[in-house]
Amino acid sequence: MSEEFLPFSRPSISQAAIDEVVACLKSGWIATGPRVNQFTENLKRYFDAPHVLPLTSATAGLHVALLGMDLAPGDEVITTPLTFVATLNTIVLAGGKPVLIDIDPGTLNMDMNRLADAVTDRTRVIMPVHFAGLPVDLDPVYEIAEQRGLRVLEDAAHAIGAEYKGKRIGSFGDTQVFSFHPNKNMTTGEGGCVVTRDQQLAMQIERLRFHGIDRQAWNRYSKGGSQDYEVVLPGYKYNMMDIQAAIGIHQLQELGGFIARRNELANRYQEALSDWPQWTLPKRPPYEHLHAWHIYTPLINEEITGMNRDEFMQAMKEKNIGTGLHYRAAHLYPYYRQAFGFNLGDFPHAEDVCERIVSLPLFPGMTDAEHDKVLDVMYGIFN
Ligand SMILES: *Cc1c(COP(=O)(O)O)cnc(C)c1O
Repeated sequence: MSEEFLPFSRPSISQAAIDEVVACLKSGWIATGPRVNQFTENLKRYFDAPHVLPLTSATAGLHVALLGMDLAPGDEVITTPLTFVATLNTIVLAGGKPVLIDIDPGTLNMDMNRLADAVTDRTRVIMPVHFAGLPVDLDPVYEIAEQRGLRVLEDAAHAIGAEYKGKRIGSFGDTQVFSFHPNKNMTTGEGGCVVTRDQQLAMQIERLRFHGIDRQAWNRYSKGGSQDYEVVLPGYKYNMMDIQAAIGIHQLQELGGFIARRNELANRYQEALSDWPQWTLPKRPPYEHLHAWHIYTPLINEEITGMNRDEFMQAMKEKNIGTGLHYRAAHLYPYYRQAFGFNLGDFPHAEDVCERIVSLPLFPGMTDAEHDKVLDVMYGIFN
């Protein structure tokens, strides 16, 4: 009866990645060095992008990307309330004001019909989140950004491997940030990267992620002593390590297979649950896309189950199955209520979804038998 606990997510680390980490440890170079350089080149090729900057996390990436976009106090950044709080936190840390628009209750992405009206004279950046790995409808985003002279910073933490109208997320547009946290589509332990087509921004992020050091500036400023760099601003310590890149080099090679398996498992849920009245399932938008299925997130219908989301999660846990909550509505955390005056009722679709959403187990190493077991246990809970 007491079987092993099935987590909602688990990284798949190949023997090749493990061997690479061991080789890195034995090489004598474990902090930022040749493996980070190789990983950077591999990512540039993957995204077909001129500038890719790996760093310690996606949060660090969002932070320095926004800092590099030079927000003045009170400048507004438009994003969604259905996101991990790092999205909002980094806006505040970079000196900006988060302005939220409600979600489309079907796709769970930002409702683009609300975007144009949310833009004000103070808006500087649009920051869409590709929720669950489903690409946001980017054409209208970039259209409005161009019309109004705005930057676009895509929080693509869920979306490495996803495609919008035949193009990889990260291969076009302004700037994207990806996460390599263990629960995400590929991992480096902790880690993330910024992808941009803006050379100035890339240079600024390069300085910000490592102590404000500029390795080109010494030519211009120093009188030719032994120093080979200058410090041009007070920077952070956000550089990725070679130990992390050693994992990432192999994860990136395996990513296509991970995304394919994520799609199989998500489709399996969609089919199995399609005639269950207990659930409202994630909907797909009409435009062409490849979903990365970072998470599979149906909404519980409490009037049918007689059980709310938290009770369902508890019942699953008692049967040794882990689930996840992505996310509580970001605007309702005490800090955001107090600092920006957000209240219950501000974003009704997001608030409703955040009460009902649950992430079912989904990860590339999950077997069909494990998937069947999740469905059996869910069936048992409701019948
Ligand atoms: C995970 C996540 C982040 C932060 O990623 P880290 O690498 O953990 O810093 C940011 N935004 C979203 C939407 C996320 O899911």
